Amino acid sequence: MTVIDTLIGEREIAARVQGLADEIAAGGPRDLLVVPLLKGSFIFAADLVRALHRAGLQPHVDFLTLSSYEGGLASSGHVRVLRDVESPVRGRDVLIIDDILESGRTLKVARDLLASRGADRVTTCVLLDKPGKRAVPFKADHVGFESPDVFVVGYGMDAGHAHRELPFVGVMREDAT
Ligand code: 5GP
Ligand code: MG
Repeated sequence: MTVIDTLIGEREIAARVQGLADEIAAGGPRDLLVVPLLKGSFIFAADLVRALHRAGLQPHVDFLTLSSYEGGLASSGHVRVLRDVESPVRGRDVLIIDDILESGRTLKVARDLLASRGADRVTTCVLLDKPGKRAVPFKADHVGFESPDVFVVGYGMDAGHAHRELPFVGVMREDAT
């Protein structure tokens, strides 16, 4: 039977999300457009934009869906846009939100795309960073937690479309009993 052990609990997540929002607000973003990368970041983004409101910001929100990266040899150009943002980005501060920063390919493509459309400043915020897994150099501006190199689920993150609904970040384990 598969059991899911808690890696990061609800209260810890909530406190860190507000901390991230305060950090972002302290940067004084202007005409802020928040762009969550779907699908994995949807719960994190929903909590983060409400925390941004509590921190005194009034961000606009629009969504970007990129194809998940497949294979280890293709260049980052092989990440495709499945659902594009509808909002103009020229001259704005754009904050990209993702669940996990791993190889760095997804966020690099997203950042380059929005920067190429004339955003003033593109910054990134991730819930989890797995720094040991980078394939391209990439540093997120705001990181919730550093993650061990394990496959995590919950708080929006899935395993074959399952477990996104869990209110905590967990790790799957096979229990023989
Ligand atoms: P990368 O930085 O490798 O381009 O993309 C990271 C993406 O891979 C994340 O946004 C997430 O969709 C997926 N991913 C990486 N590690 C995990 C993990 O441990 N669990 C889940 N559910 N997805 C992961
Ligand atoms: Mg993702």
